[in-house]
Amino acid sequence: MVKDDCIFCKIAGGKIPAATLYEDEDFRVILDLGPASRGHALILPKEHYQDLCELDEAVGAKVLALAAKIGRAMKSGLGCAGFNLVQNNGEAAGQTVKHFHMHIIPRYEGGPEMVVWKPGSSDAGELEKIVEEITAQL
Ligand code: AMP
Ligand code: ZN
Repeated sequence: MVKDDCIFCKIAGGKIPAATLYEDEDFRVILDLGPASRGHALILPKEHYQDLCELDEAVGAKVLALAAKIGRAMKSGLGCAGFNLVQNNGEAAGQTVKHFHMHIIPRYEGGPEMVVWKPGSSDAGELEKIVEEITAQL
């Protein structure tokens, strides 16, 4: 199913042009128009899924292998030292386009700055409570 007013549906389906790195029956991989680093790419499923929670399991099972394939090509083709996979779910998490996508962001020596957090602290009681809150929903 594609969504008529979804820009990533249109790009994945070839209705709007994009710099395409890879395409198969399930996915199109494009270069991000607002890259965090040179070669920043997005894996787009051709079907519309709002986010990871909605993603079809069979399609989702192919995403990591595809990310590895693109990442390997980035390392040998662009000479990046590594890459990050970033996948945002929900506005609070920074998702701006409501069509599942996986970012593949090449990392070069010296940059770019990426998400970093200062480790907080926890204790056994708090960990146990969190385990209960999440596992009750599984
Ligand atoms: P997110 O914040 O995870 O939803 O990421 C959306 C990403 O899509 C951003 O990095 C944008 O730069 C990128 N983006 C938005 N529109 C386009 C477009 N038409 N072509 C390529 N990348 C896009
Ligand atoms: Zn869509």
